[in-house]
Order: sequence, then structure tokens, then C-alpha cells
Amino acid sequence: MRIEMAKRIDQIPPYLFAEIDKKKEEIRNKGIDLIDLGIGDPDLPTPKPIIERLKKAAENPKNHRYPSYEGMIEFRSAVAQWYERRFGIKLNPGTEVLSLIGSKEGIAHIPLAFVNPGDVALVPSPGYPVYRVSTLFAGGIPYFLPLRKENGFLPNLSEIPKTIAKKAKLLFINYPNNPTSAIAERPFFEEVVAFARRYQIIVCHDAAYSEIAFDGYQPLSFLEVEGAKEVGVEFHSLSKTFNMTGWRIGFAVGHSEILSGLGRVKTNIDSGLFQAIQEAGAEALNHLDTPLPEIIAIYEKRRDVMVKGLQEMGLEVDRPRATFYLWIQVPKGYTSAQFATLLIEQGGIVTTPGNGFGEEGEGYIRMALTVDEKRLKEAIERLKRIKF
Ligand SMILES: *Cc1c(COP(=O)(O)O)cnc(C)c1O
Repeated sequence: MRIEMAKRIDQIPPYLFAEIDKKKEEIRNKGIDLIDLGIGDPDLPTPKPIIERLKKAAENPKNHRYPSYEGMIEFRSAVAQWYERRFGIKLNPGTEVLSLIGSKEGIAHIPLAFVNPGDVALVPSPGYPVYRVSTLFAGGIPYFLPLRKENGFLPNLSEIPKTIAKKAKLLFINYPNNPTSAIAERPFFEEVVAFARRYQIIVCHDAAYSEIAFDGYQPLSFLEVEGAKEVGVEFHSLSKTFNMTGWRIGFAVGHSEILSGLGRVKTNIDSGLFQAIQEAGAEALNHLDTPLPEIIAIYEKRRDVMVKGLQEMGLEVDRPRATFYLWIQVPKGYTSAQFATLLIEQGGIVTTPGNGFGEEGEGYIRMALTVDEKRLKEAIERLKRIKF
């Protein structure tokens, strides 16, 4: 039998990191030691109290049954209380908080609730690949908003043609930003709210890195801006905040009807999030201070070591105030892919070519600071030996 993929799968290039995995395998098979700065997956362990709570919760037979669709009230209340402590925002845990099986799950499903075939979703480029793909899965048309250095890697909303804005149902934004590590301040979020109101567009703010920030900087929640809760939702994740990428726990907060649309999609696809993990998530939000000072101190040091090393080599890179990414301009004469290939082949250093995050990422590579300082220093030594 000839197996034919559906068009919605065929139109999508293989997931970026799956391609890079293949290249890594090839190089590793040659016996070359790899320093992997490719994927944004924290190398540090989940804090002990969270693990202890999971162990206990896993013993409870009540947690062995199907969880509720929208999430346990204990977890959703912990989210609401954390929001109030951290951002000064009041949320109703019953209607304004939804548990997610990781924030990627929510981001991937939300277009199914709001995008009809032919509708537009506004998607940053470069950006987290899921915004574009989830739009396509829903039959929507991604319209790319370029994030350029000269604009602080914020989209210029006034450049969006009126005809496009009128057809748009969703706007994805993400600050602190992956992959550029840029941050957004209040005036930008105010602009977003005004734009969303004018064109009746649902704003999806991905705040996965709100708790990974340096030098005392505390990123804003989109919901802190007046009127934001009337136009949008914010996605959060425990993945980066508490080193829990493998646990699959996140949440969305904000406009109750938008959340209920997402919830309706989810009830038809998944059956919620293992309650023991939700209990452990509540433990994290209730009892640990965010940003977690121990984690931040480690990333700060890694950032300083790496930025200094790269700048001494003459590479163009900004010192980020948030996220664990460095967004590095490739030297003249190289494309992103060529430079990433050079680094992996001649130095065993895995990076992500910027164009993998969208066309506007061409001319950059991304490094994730998710290996220890000693290995980063080793990476710098190897980089110094490569001629470019
Ligand atoms: C890591 C990441 C997420 C996904 O996090 P999960 O909660 O683990 O699914 C979402 N958005 C961005 C931009 C990320 O980098």
C-alpha cells in the first residue's frame, strides 16, 4: 500500500530540531565530541520539593483516575495566587485559568478554536515554530511579522496592511523572546492592546521565559496592561521556570471565553493533565520564589562567559537581559545554515540556524546556554580555532 500523507502534514517542513538531530547523529558517529547549544532544554534538575510532592501525589489512588478537563482547582488556584504575587493581577481560578499539558499543547490547539480556513494569524518571524504550524493545521494563513534588530526585535504593527489586519483572527507575540532574547516593555504591550481592539484580534502572548531574566530585571505580564484581559490570553509554562520540560505542565490565563474555546478543543482531544503532576506544579508555584535565584545566577554567569568570548572573537551579539539564548549575527559571507554547519563540522558545536525560526532569522544563529560553564569555555576555545 502506498502511504500518502495528508496535505496539512506534507506542506510542513520536518520539525526543525528533528533535522538537527539527524546532523548531530552523523557527526557523533564520526567520533566527534559534541557541545550541544542547540535546544533550549535546561540541563539543571527540577528542585527537590517538587519531586518530593510528585512522589507523594503519585501514591494517592485518587490521582490515578482521569483528571478534570480544565485542571484541578488546587493547581488553578496556585496559578491565580502566583499571578497576584508576581504581577499584581487578580484572576478567577474557575474561569480565567486553564491547565495545559505544556504550553506548546495550548499554543498548538488554540487556532483550532478560532481560525477558520482562509483566516489570517499574525506570526512573528523569527519565532517559535509552533505558531506557524498550528495556524496551518487549522487551515489558516500565517502572515509573518518581521522582528528586526533595528526595532528591538519587536514587530512593527503599523506596517501590517489594513486588509491583512481585517482578516486576522490571532496575533502571536512572545516576550522575553525565543529566539532573539529580546524583551518588551509596557508601551509595546499597550500598542498591541490598541491594535487588537481596533481589528478585533485575539492576542496570544507566550510568556514561557517570564521567569528567566537577569540583573534584577522582572519581565512584565501582558495582562498587566490596561485592557489586555479583554483581548487576549497569556501562555505560561513550568518548563523553563522550574526546569520541568519533561513533566509537561503549563497553563493559559486571561479572557474566559477565549480559554473556554481552547478548552472545548482540548476536551475533544486530550483528557487533561496527570493530577500528581498538577499537585507538584501547585507546590512549585506556592512555595518557590520566582525567578529561582539559584537558576538565574547560573545562567547569568554562563551568559557573561559566552558573550565575552564571542565578542572577543569579533562576533556580533547582544548581552541578553532575559531567556537563556544568544542571538548571534553570522559573519559576512555565510548563510545561517553554512555557519551552523561550519561550527558543528569543525568544532563539534551544535547551534540552531536562525532561518529555522522563519525567513527573517536568516543571518543569525541561536545558542542556548544549557550546558555548564566548563563546556562553554571549551566551546569558546574550539571556536577560536575555527577560521571564519
Ligand atoms: C520552551 C517554549 C515553550 C514550550 O514550553 P512547554 O511548556 O514545555 O511546552 C513555549 N514557547 C516558547 C517560546 C518556548 O521556547
